[in-house]
Amino acid sequence: DMTVAGFDPELAAAIDQERDRQETHIELIASENYASPRVLEMQGSVLTNKYAEGYPGKRYYGGCQYVDIAENLAIERAKTLFGAAYANVQPHSGSGANLAVFMALAKPGDTLLGLSLDHGGHLTHGAKPNFSGKIYNPVQYGVTSDTGEIDYEQVEQLAREHQPKIIIAGFSAYSRVVDWSRFREIADEVGAWLLADMAHIAGLVAAGVYPSPVPYADAVTTTTHKSLRGPRGGLILARENPDVTKKLQSLIFPGTQGGPLMHAIAGKAVAFLEAQDPGFRGYQEQVVANARAMAETVMARGYDVVSGGTDNHLLLLDLVNKGLTGKEADAALEDAHITVNKNTVPNDPQSPFVTSGLRIGTPAITTRGFREAESRELAGWICDVLDHINDESVRDRVRDQVTDICRRFPVYEALQG
Ligand code: PLP
Repeated sequence: DMTVAGFDPELAAAIDQERDRQETHIELIASENYASPRVLEMQGSVLTNKYAEGYPGKRYYGGCQYVDIAENLAIERAKTLFGAAYANVQPHSGSGANLAVFMALAKPGDTLLGLSLDHGGHLTHGAKPNFSGKIYNPVQYGVTSDTGEIDYEQVEQLAREHQPKIIIAGFSAYSRVVDWSRFREIADEVGAWLLADMAHIAGLVAAGVYPSPVPYADAVTTTTHKSLRGPRGGLILARENPDVTKKLQSLIFPGTQGGPLMHAIAGKAVAFLEAQDPGFRGYQEQVVANARAMAETVMARGYDVVSGGTDNHLLLLDLVNKGLTGKEADAALEDAHITVNKNTVPNDPQSPFVTSGLRIGTPAITTRGFREAESRELAGWICDVLDHINDESVRDRVRDQVTDICRRFPVYEALQG
C-alpha cells in the first residue's frame, strides 16, 4: 500500500485530525492562513526530489532545466508583485532570510537596532535568546506608552547614540502602519542599512492595502505563508543596487543554505500568481475590514486594544484592566474552539510565558469567507468567554456556535473557488 494511511495509520490519523481541527476550529493566529490546493499540490510534487544548489542557469548539479523554469517563474512573479528589482526565493524561512541579510550587511559584533519582542518585534530582531541577539549587539526600541505606536523619536535617539549597522523595521504584533520613510531618514542620518521585515503584512502589501517598504529599504524580508497565503518559506527583495544584491545572493547560497527546496519554490511561484488575481485585493481589503470590525466590537464591550484599533490584519487585546492573563484567556478560548495566541503587551506586568494580552488576526477567517458580520459575532463570543472566564456553560454554548459557523464556512470548499 503506497498511501500513508495504509503504511503508517498512526501518522495518517494525526494528519486527519489536524485537517479536522482546521475545519472545526476558528483560527485567529495572525501569522497563519490556509494555503490553496494548488500550493499544497506543489508542496507534494516530485520537485522535492531535486538538488539544485546554485541559481537558475548556474547550478552545481545537472538535470536542473525544469526546476530552473519553476524558480525563474517564482523570481519574476515576486519582482512583479512587489515592484522589486531583485528577488531571492530560496530562503527556507523568514528567520533564515533575516540571518542572510544580517550576514550580508553586518559583521558579528556589529550593532542591530530593532523593535523589542515585548513591544511587538520578532525574535530575529535582536532578542537575547536568538542568533540576532547573540552574534550581534542588539539595541531595542519600543512603542510609546500613550499611543501604543512606534516611538520614532526613540528610534532616532538610539540610532544616534549607538550607530547601528542595520536598523530593522517590521513586526510580529503591531496593528498600525509603519512609517517606512521615517525609518529611511533615520537610517540615512546615521549611515545604517535599513532592513524591512514585512513578514506579517506581505499579503496586504502585495494587494496595495498597506504601504510597501520596497522603495525605502535596502533589503526587504518576508515569509510567504502568513497573510501572503503561500507555502511556508522566506523571500528577500531589494531595490536595484548590485553591491547589496550580490551579497544577498551569496549569503543565501552558499552563505547560509545548501540546496533550495524546489517544491516550496514552486509553491511560492503559484502563490505569487494567485496574489496577482484581482480577487486577492478584495480578500486583503476584507482582512483589514474584519480586523477593524473585531476591534470595534471588543472595545465597545470594554476591552482595551493596544493603540486603540488597527490598520492591518491584527489587533492586540490588552487584558490588564480585566485582571486576566493571556495564558488563561488563550486556554479558555481554545476550550471553545477559538484559537488565538497569548501575547505580551507593551510594559506587560506578566512574564512572556503568562502575558497580559492576546493577539488576534483575521487572514485565516477571511480566507474561509467571514465578512464583517461574522467577525463582529465572533468578537462578541470572545468577549462572552472572557467576561465569564470561570463559566463552563458559556464556553459550551460558544463552542456550539463555533461548530455551526465552521460548518457554514468550510475552509477547503471555499478554496476550491
Ligand atoms: N519575521 C517576522 C516579523 C515574523 O513574524 C516571523 C514569523 O514568526 C519571522 C520573521 C520568522 O519566520 P519563520 O517562522 O519562517 O522563521
